[in-house]
Amino acid sequence: MTTTTYQPGEIQGLIKINASKCKGCDACKQFCPTHAIHGASGAVHSIDEDKCLSCGQCLINCPFSAIEETHSALETVIKKLADKNTTVVGIIAPAVRVAIGEEFGLGTGELVTGKLYGAMNQAGFKIFDCNFAADLTIMEEGSEFIHRLHANVKGEANAGPLPQFTSCCPGWVRYLETRYPALLPNLSTAKSPQQMAGAVAKTYGAKVYQMQPENIFTVSVMPCTSKKLEASRPEFNSAWQYHQEHGGNSPSYQDIDAVLTTREMAQLLKMLDIDLANTEEYQGDSLFSEYTGAGTIFGTTGGVMEAALRTAHKVLTGTEMAKLEFEPVRGLKGVKSASVSLFDTELNQDVTVNVAVVHDMGNNIEPVLRDVMAGTSPYHFIEVMNCAGGCVNGGGQPIEGKGSSW
Ligand code: SF4
Repeated sequence: MTTTTYQPGEIQGLIKINASKCKGCDACKQFCPTHAIHGASGAVHSIDEDKCLSCGQCLINCPFSAIEETHSALETVIKKLADKNTTVVGIIAPAVRVAIGEEFGLGTGELVTGKLYGAMNQAGFKIFDCNFAADLTIMEEGSEFIHRLHANVKGEANAGPLPQFTSCCPGWVRYLETRYPALLPNLSTAKSPQQMAGAVAKTYGAKVYQMQPENIFTVSVMPCTSKKLEASRPEFNSAWQYHQEHGGNSPSYQDIDAVLTTREMAQLLKMLDIDLANTEEYQGDSLFSEYTGAGTIFGTTGGVMEAALRTAHKVLTGTEMAKLEFEPVRGLKGVKSASVSLFDTELNQDVTVNVAVVHDMGNNIEPVLRDVMAGTSPYHFIEVMNCAGGCVNGGGQPIEGKGSSW
């Protein structure tokens, strides 16, 4: 396994099948959203790198543990934690806190935010909750949607196309790029919470931590293997670009230096003899552990849309939604849809916004995209998440019965 931090240039071939363990049982094929796995029943299978989204769904569903990641930054992160000249910032995704407790004998689904902060603080991380960045994402994505909606209603030239797609799932973004490039203008221009967190930690965070940005090492802790691919994309070095424009002259660095999955963070804590289950709770060390409930629900299908609708309602009407829980976009139906009618104070007229939420992308997205391509989609805003149920079921989460020493 390669130990790496991210340099400009994408990781390829993140997920591989170990030929010595594969029984050719076909279980993986049922979970691959792009039919990227080849091989006859009973024969050793292989993955087509060009089609693979690195989502890890095959990995967590292989009954023989025959599917593995080729990259891990675990050893590099441990070395950085021991380096007194480096501030290591741990960016914790929403779905990690309800899963990592399983690795330490706590109940399935138990919320361990304070204990995880405490264990990571003990390991030497500064705490940056990705929920903080999810709140930023929603302000950006919600504002962009309102701008597109208004521009389209007014018939302005260069109004961005509708429906607007969410952009926080790298598996979905890769799917659109490779299969429907004509629809890329529909994708929100907002970065994912992971990438916003990295950029903020190395710009504004440099003032908070009183460190030079090149001495800040950002480690995101994700339920998702595909986030490793996202972090390695060459365009995600915006903090470095910002500092170059303001007199910096350091060699290029990425906004996110390393990604650990939930499983890998459990391994790291065990390697450092930190028992999360018996760790004292910790509240965080800066404003980066402050967040709203809207940021928290990003971890599940429908969460991004619900958060966006709350923001859009407040901006368009000047008032909060009477009931914050937006039930029609909750639950596990493959494609959920809803309409929201409200009085738009800027347009001075009633508007109806049609939204859809898609998860388990491989089984549900094609008819939705065909309608968009044909110009017959009834929707203005569509959330798409690759994994069934959203990130709580991501490819980097604990595997039942296997523990982090798999
Ligand atoms: Fe990663 Fe979440 Fe997308 Fe799954 S749904 S690929 S865990 S971002």
